Amino acid sequence: MIPYGSHLVDEEDIDAVVDVLKNKFLTQGELVPKFEQAIADYTDVPYCTAVNSGTSALHIACLALGVGTGDLVWTVPNSFVASANCARYCGAGIDFVDIDAKTRNISVEALEGKLKTTSRLPKVLIVVHFSGFCCDMKAIKALCDTYGIAIIEDAAHAFGGRYLKHPIGNCDYSDVTAFSFHPVKTITSAEGGAVTTKSEDLHVKLQLFAKHGVTRDTPTYKALPPEPWVYEQHELGFNYRLSDLHAALGLSQIKKTDEFVTSRRNIAALYESSLQTLPIERPNFKAQIDSAWHLYVIELVSHNRAEIFAELRKRGIGVNVHYIPIHLQPYYQSLGFREGNFPVSEQYYNMALSLPIFPSMTENQQQKVIAELHEVLS
Ligand SMILES: *Cc1c(COP(=O)(O)O)cnc(C)c1O
Repeated sequence: MIPYGSHLVDEEDIDAVVDVLKNKFLTQGELVPKFEQAIADYTDVPYCTAVNSGTSALHIACLALGVGTGDLVWTVPNSFVASANCARYCGAGIDFVDIDAKTRNISVEALEGKLKTTSRLPKVLIVVHFSGFCCDMKAIKALCDTYGIAIIEDAAHAFGGRYLKHPIGNCDYSDVTAFSFHPVKTITSAEGGAVTTKSEDLHVKLQLFAKHGVTRDTPTYKALPPEPWVYEQHELGFNYRLSDLHAALGLSQIKKTDEFVTSRRNIAALYESSLQTLPIERPNFKAQIDSAWHLYVIELVSHNRAEIFAELRKRGIGVNVHYIPIHLQPYYQSLGFREGNFPVSEQYYNMALSLPIFPSMTENQQQKVIAELHEVLS
């Protein structure tokens, strides 16, 4: 089965991890701060906090922005459940803004309309750069500034992507950006994630929430004497630490970010030129050229998706579906959401099919995917 996504780990990556096992601290050594610096350098931002997953990254992002009971967070239905769960972890309410049918990202018109008519404004908006293609951040930031809403970028798909020529994660149009380094994402640390920000104040909070709410920064102590053994807990934080084993893998992988994104873009380019005659919707390759190309999603506008899915899987093509709209999950239905609430996300979902795209995919593998698609769809 040709998978829809896969990591690419080489001997250099393996050596980096083995070196930690043989010679270094397994956790709380020097590699996590080094990985944080490397992410900050790559995304051209002053501050980065590395954590043990993208989900933890989203959770501490919400906490740092003060999301709590009685607050409301908005995100999109077309994402992984973690984009909404992070608000629920904080005790906040959640609501959704529908997507744009063309970009599959948050619809700026829908956002504007909802902001104008809602009886209750959110504290935070979590935008998702679906498939690695950046949302219309300029317009979104302008709207959120007008209404005093903070912005989290869920850039789990988008490490290595660019927006207006700048790296996604530089937070020019947001308060914080969250990344995931799960093996299917641009680079991997096995499990792992990070939050970037330009705000020193938010960075201090992010570091606290990722590490039990505990600080060893003596000038900030509130009560205890600054004896050498003393640490102080200022918030109810979590143990979301990344280990040095994971950081070593991440540090080795991050050097290859541009290479990986280029491979993904080349695969997308070949799909773009090879699938033109099929009765499907494709991503707008030219408009999305700076995407990190985490996913390549087609929409089956004249076929039954379940049938095509089954037929392709039978032929060894590991197609997948991204995403079941979050509000259709039983947990979110129990909060009162219903089918029909976000029709664009629902209609997109009914037709969506993710094709294999990953940096180690060979041209032969891709030609097989293309040939099988042509057979199955004609
Ligand atoms: C992968 C992903 C996450 C969660 O990341 P983990 O590292 O798996 O916790 C969050 N949001 C989106 C959009 C994702 O694709």
